[in-house]
Amino acid sequence: MTHHEKTKVVDVGGVKIGGGNPVVVQSMTSTRTEDIEATLGQIERLHDAGCELIRVAVPTFKAVRAFRQIVEHSPIPVIADIHFNYRLAIAAIEAGAHKIRINPGNIGGEKRVKEVIAAAKANGVPIRIGVNSGSLEVDLIDKYGGVKPEAMAESAIRWAHFFEQQGFDDIVISVKGSSVPATIKAYRIVAENLSYPLHLGVTEAGPAWTGTIKSAIGIGALLADGIGDTIRVSLTADPVEEVKVAWEILKALELRARGLMLISCPTCSRTRVDLMKIVAQVEKRLEGFKVPIKVAVMGCEVNGPGEARDADIGIAAGPGFGLLFKKGKVIRKIPEDKIVEELIAEIEAMEKEWRA
Ligand code: SF4
Repeated sequence: MTHHEKTKVVDVGGVKIGGGNPVVVQSMTSTRTEDIEATLGQIERLHDAGCELIRVAVPTFKAVRAFRQIVEHSPIPVIADIHFNYRLAIAAIEAGAHKIRINPGNIGGEKRVKEVIAAAKANGVPIRIGVNSGSLEVDLIDKYGGVKPEAMAESAIRWAHFFEQQGFDDIVISVKGSSVPATIKAYRIVAENLSYPLHLGVTEAGPAWTGTIKSAIGIGALLADGIGDTIRVSLTADPVEEVKVAWEILKALELRARGLMLISCPTCSRTRVDLMKIVAQVEKRLEGFKVPIKVAVMGCEVNGPGEARDADIGIAAGPGFGLLFKKGKVIRKIPEDKIVEELIAEIEAMEKEWRA
């Protein structure tokens, strides 16, 4: 049994994390929380892109008041992200947070953490113990001689035991680092020692291009080992991009299905159509497509028919034409300039059939 299958299940406003439930996609708003309209607008866009849980920073009491409204109108459960001030954590719980995220090491000592736990317990609100390489406790940095994965894991493990001692186990854990190997190692240690659901992420992964690669490696390596129950990709970009990347990671590992799964070849000297243009157009036209569909667009008869046959629908190109495959059978030959149009028409017809 994998760690993902055997963890406790934590219910966040009706979305179940852990215990073998589908790995949940989450993101975080980048608007000012006090701007309710902008924040809800961003949550709507994220929800449309496939975000299932949303985290909102709550840095002030004015933000708590806005947070209450955001929770009330959000289409998906809302998590309050709190640092430093335990009173904000308690206020966010009372304002209806479906979960809160704290780093117990920076909330002002054990007494204050206990007060947050008591409020969460009284209101049935789960807590993520969110250890981060950038804000690790000094005693652990000293013990391990730096911000080491062992130190991050020990921080999470000892806080989880502290929460248990208070009679609270509605817990999700994260141990995010900005180093991919350190993050992977820290999560593996936690998975060996605790059976709480794990929220995976590589923190401060960077801009969209490099951050996508770092996140895919870090999150992907853990998920491939059966570790991880919810994921957040952190990019210095529109958070909608985070959600798209998260879904691509889950789709690549065949853990979940959503929208387009596009198989296309790199092209070579055998290619006799403008495959790059065709693939780019197909991808653009199917952006935001929600029904899971596997589409193959291949450059020639070497691997083309095999991949096209294996997909829901596919094209294997020849000199100036494409052979259209549907559910493993050749349907017809299409001239190059009509490939995109006819492929999209067939996909839309399939979508209608599935929805009927
Ligand atoms: Fe080349 Fe054909 Fe392979 Fe595409 S499928 S890379 S065109 S051999």
